[in-house]
Amino acid sequence: MVGFARYQLPELPYKYGDLEPYIIEEIMKLHHQKHHAGYVKGANAALEKLEKHLKGEAEIDVRAVLRDFSFHYGGHIMHTIFWPNMAPPGKGGGTPGGRVADLIEKQFGSFEAFKKLFSAAAKTVEGVGWAVLAVDPLTGELRILQVEKHNLLMTAGHIPILVIDVWEHAYYLQYKNDRGSYVENWWNVVNWDDVEKRLETALNSGKALYVPEPPKLG
Ligand code: MN
Repeated sequence: MVGFARYQLPELPYKYGDLEPYIIEEIMKLHHQKHHAGYVKGANAALEKLEKHLKGEAEIDVRAVLRDFSFHYGGHIMHTIFWPNMAPPGKGGGTPGGRVADLIEKQFGSFEAFKKLFSAAAKTVEGVGWAVLAVDPLTGELRILQVEKHNLLMTAGHIPILVIDVWEHAYYLQYKNDRGSYVENWWNVVNWDDVEKRLETALNSGKALYVPEPPKLG
Protein backbone atom coordinates (compact mmCIF):
# COMPACT_ATOMS: atom_id res chain seq x y z
CA MET A 1 0.00 0.00 0.00
CA VAL A 2 1.33 3.37 -1.02
CA GLY A 3 -0.03 6.62 0.27
CA PHE A 4 0.18 9.72 2.41
CA ALA A 5 -2.17 11.12 5.03
CA ARG A 6 -4.13 14.15 3.88
CA TYR A 7 -4.10 17.52 5.66
CA GLN A 8 -7.21 19.15 7.05
CA LEU A 9 -8.22 22.74 7.67
CA PRO A 10 -8.21 23.26 11.46
CA GLU A 11 -11.01 25.11 13.22
CA LEU A 12 -10.20 28.51 14.69
CA PRO A 13 -10.07 28.57 18.52
CA TYR A 14 -12.40 31.64 18.52
CA LYS A 15 -15.09 33.22 16.33
CA TYR A 16 -14.21 35.16 13.18
CA GLY A 17 -15.24 38.47 14.76
CA ASP A 18 -13.50 37.92 18.09
CA LEU A 19 -10.26 39.70 17.19
CA GLU A 20 -12.06 42.97 16.42
CA PRO A 21 -11.33 45.85 16.44
CA TYR A 22 -7.76 44.85 15.59
CA ILE A 23 -8.57 42.34 12.84
CA ILE A 24 -12.07 42.53 11.37
CA GLU A 25 -14.37 39.54 10.87
CA GLU A 26 -14.36 39.80 7.07
CA ILE A 27 -10.58 39.41 6.93
CA MET A 28 -10.57 36.45 9.32
CA LYS A 29 -13.33 34.66 7.45
CA LEU A 30 -11.76 35.04 4.00
CA HIS A 31 -8.32 34.33 5.34
CA HIS A 32 -9.37 31.05 6.96
CA GLN A 33 -12.02 29.79 4.54
CA LYS A 34 -10.37 30.82 1.27
CA HIS A 35 -6.65 31.36 1.72
CA HIS A 36 -5.75 28.77 4.34
CA ALA A 37 -8.18 26.27 2.81
CA GLY A 38 -6.44 26.85 -0.52
CA TYR A 39 -3.07 25.89 0.92
CA VAL A 40 -4.49 22.71 2.42
CA LYS A 41 -5.98 21.82 -0.96
CA GLY A 42 -2.72 22.61 -2.75
CA ALA A 43 -0.64 20.49 -0.38
CA ASN A 44 -3.03 17.56 -0.72
CA ALA A 45 -3.04 17.90 -4.51
CA ALA A 46 0.76 17.62 -4.53
CA LEU A 47 0.58 14.49 -2.34
CA GLU A 48 -1.94 12.98 -4.71
CA LYS A 49 0.39 13.55 -7.66
CA LEU A 50 3.23 11.85 -5.77
CA GLU A 51 0.99 8.91 -4.93
CA LYS A 52 -0.08 8.45 -8.53
CA HIS A 53 3.53 8.62 -9.57
CA LEU A 54 4.58 5.98 -7.02
CA LYS A 55 1.80 3.71 -8.22
CA GLY A 56 2.99 4.08 -11.80
CA GLU A 57 -0.19 5.82 -12.86
CA ALA A 58 1.30 9.19 -13.83
CA GLU A 59 4.51 10.83 -14.93
CA ILE A 60 5.24 13.96 -12.96
CA ASP A 61 7.69 16.83 -12.98
CA VAL A 62 9.20 15.95 -9.59
CA ARG A 63 10.87 19.32 -9.14
CA ALA A 64 7.65 21.21 -9.85
CA VAL A 65 5.55 19.01 -7.58
CA LEU A 66 7.96 19.25 -4.66
CA ARG A 67 8.20 23.00 -5.12
CA ASP A 68 4.43 23.24 -5.11
CA PHE A 69 4.23 21.07 -2.02
CA SER A 70 6.79 23.19 -0.17
CA PHE A 71 4.78 26.36 -0.86
CA HIS A 72 1.35 25.01 0.05
CA TYR A 73 2.46 22.91 2.99
CA GLY A 74 4.47 25.87 4.29
CA GLY A 75 1.30 27.95 4.07
CA HIS A 76 -0.73 25.30 5.88
CA ILE A 77 1.78 24.97 8.72
CA MET A 78 2.24 28.71 9.20
CA HIS A 79 -1.51 29.43 9.34
CA THR A 80 -2.02 26.47 11.68
CA ILE A 81 0.35 28.20 14.12
CA PHE A 82 -0.92 31.73 13.36
CA TRP A 83 -4.55 31.19 14.49
CA PRO A 84 -3.90 29.94 18.03
CA ASN A 85 -1.02 32.42 18.34
CA MET A 86 -3.85 34.99 18.62
CA ALA A 87 -6.65 35.43 21.15
CA PRO A 88 -9.45 37.98 21.63
CA PRO A 89 -8.30 41.31 23.13
CA GLY A 90 -8.18 40.98 26.89
CA LYS A 91 -7.07 37.37 26.77
CA GLY A 92 -4.51 38.28 24.10
CA GLY A 93 -2.09 41.18 24.20
CA GLY A 94 -0.01 42.48 27.06
CA THR A 95 3.38 41.00 27.77
CA PRO A 96 4.63 37.42 28.05
CA GLY A 97 5.47 35.68 31.31
CA GLY A 98 7.25 32.46 32.12
CA ARG A 99 10.12 31.12 30.13
CA VAL A 100 9.31 33.20 27.05
CA ALA A 101 9.75 36.36 29.11
CA ASP A 102 12.99 35.04 30.64
CA LEU A 103 14.53 34.16 27.28
CA ILE A 104 13.40 37.41 25.68
CA GLU A 105 14.94 39.45 28.48
CA LYS A 106 18.15 37.44 28.47
CA GLN A 107 18.64 37.53 24.72
CA PHE A 108 17.08 40.82 23.64
CA GLY A 109 17.53 42.92 26.77
CA SER A 110 13.88 43.78 27.27
CA PHE A 111 10.43 43.01 25.90
CA GLU A 112 10.34 46.46 24.29
CA ALA A 113 13.61 45.82 22.46
CA PHE A 114 12.32 42.45 21.26
CA LYS A 115 9.00 43.93 20.17
CA LYS A 116 10.76 46.65 18.20
CA LEU A 117 13.00 44.17 16.38
CA PHE A 118 10.20 41.69 15.67
CA SER A 119 7.95 44.51 14.40
CA ALA A 120 10.75 45.73 12.14
CA ALA A 121 11.15 42.20 10.80
CA ALA A 122 7.41 42.01 10.06
CA LYS A 123 7.22 45.44 8.46
CA THR A 124 10.21 44.88 6.17
CA VAL A 125 9.52 41.41 4.75
CA GLU A 126 10.09 41.90 1.03
CA GLY A 127 6.86 41.27 -0.87
CA VAL A 128 4.73 38.81 1.06
CA GLY A 129 5.60 36.53 3.95
CA TRP A 130 5.95 36.21 7.69
CA ALA A 131 7.96 37.30 10.68
CA VAL A 132 8.71 34.33 12.89
CA LEU A 133 9.97 33.81 16.41
CA ALA A 134 11.53 30.36 16.45
CA VAL A 135 13.57 28.06 18.64
CA ASP A 136 17.07 27.35 17.32
CA PRO A 137 17.57 23.58 17.42
CA LEU A 138 21.31 23.79 18.08
CA THR A 139 21.23 26.18 21.04
CA GLY A 140 17.63 26.25 22.28
CA GLU A 141 17.74 30.04 21.96
CA LEU A 142 15.08 32.22 20.36
CA ARG A 143 15.63 33.50 16.84
CA ILE A 144 13.72 36.11 14.86
CA LEU A 145 13.37 35.05 11.23
CA GLN A 146 11.85 36.59 8.14
CA VAL A 147 10.13 34.22 5.75
CA GLU A 148 9.18 35.17 2.20
CA LYS A 149 6.01 33.63 0.77
CA HIS A 150 5.46 30.67 3.16
CA ASN A 151 8.72 28.83 2.88
CA LEU A 152 11.60 30.86 1.43
CA LEU A 153 14.38 31.81 3.89
CA MET A 154 12.94 29.34 6.43
CA THR A 155 15.90 28.16 8.47
CA ALA A 156 16.47 24.42 8.80
CA GLY A 157 15.22 22.80 11.99
CA HIS A 158 13.94 25.98 13.61
CA ILE A 159 10.61 25.52 15.39
CA PRO A 160 8.24 28.50 15.01
CA ILE A 161 6.48 29.52 18.23
CA LEU A 162 5.09 32.93 17.21
CA VAL A 163 4.27 34.00 13.65
CA ILE A 164 2.65 37.01 12.02
CA ASP A 165 1.24 36.84 8.52
CA VAL A 166 2.19 39.91 6.48
CA TRP A 167 0.67 38.86 3.18
CA GLU A 168 -1.72 41.60 2.03
CA HIS A 169 -4.69 39.23 2.45
CA ALA A 170 -4.00 39.38 6.21
CA TYR A 171 -4.70 43.13 6.50
CA TYR A 172 -5.58 44.92 3.25
CA LEU A 173 -9.38 45.00 3.70
CA GLN A 174 -8.93 46.91 6.95
CA TYR A 175 -5.55 48.63 6.80
CA LYS A 176 -5.11 49.07 3.02
CA ASN A 177 -1.37 49.35 2.33
CA ASP A 178 -0.52 50.36 5.92
CA ARG A 179 1.24 47.19 7.01
CA GLY A 180 2.89 49.09 9.87
CA SER A 181 -0.42 49.88 11.63
CA TYR A 182 -1.55 46.28 11.22
CA VAL A 183 1.68 45.02 12.80
CA GLU A 184 1.41 47.49 15.72
CA ASN A 185 -2.24 46.55 16.38
CA TRP A 186 -1.54 42.82 16.10
CA TRP A 187 0.36 42.91 19.40
CA ASN A 188 -3.02 43.46 21.10
CA VAL A 189 -4.14 39.96 20.14
CA VAL A 190 -0.96 37.93 20.70
CA ASN A 191 -1.75 34.86 22.79
CA TRP A 192 1.31 34.60 25.03
CA ASP A 193 -0.02 31.48 26.76
CA ASP A 194 0.07 29.70 23.42
CA VAL A 195 3.59 30.96 22.69
CA GLU A 196 4.74 29.74 26.11
CA LYS A 197 3.22 26.31 25.48
CA ARG A 198 5.01 26.05 22.15
CA LEU A 199 8.34 27.06 23.68
CA GLU A 200 7.99 24.51 26.50
CA THR A 201 7.11 21.78 24.03
CA ALA A 202 10.03 22.65 21.75
CA LEU A 203 12.51 22.70 24.62
CA ASN A 204 11.20 19.74 26.58
CA SER A 205 10.12 17.23 23.98
CA GLY A 206 13.71 16.55 22.95
CA LYS A 207 12.37 15.08 19.74
CA ALA A 208 12.81 18.02 17.49
CA LEU A 209 15.78 19.68 19.15
CA TYR A 210 19.37 18.62 18.87
CA VAL A 211 20.35 20.55 21.98
CA PRO A 212 20.81 18.00 24.79
CA GLU A 213 19.46 20.23 27.54
CA PRO A 214 17.30 23.32 27.57
CA PRO A 215 19.44 26.47 27.83
CA LYS A 216 20.24 27.67 31.33
CA LEU A 217 18.99 31.13 32.16
CA GLY A 218 20.72 33.96 33.98
MN1 MN B 1 -2.28 34.18 5.15
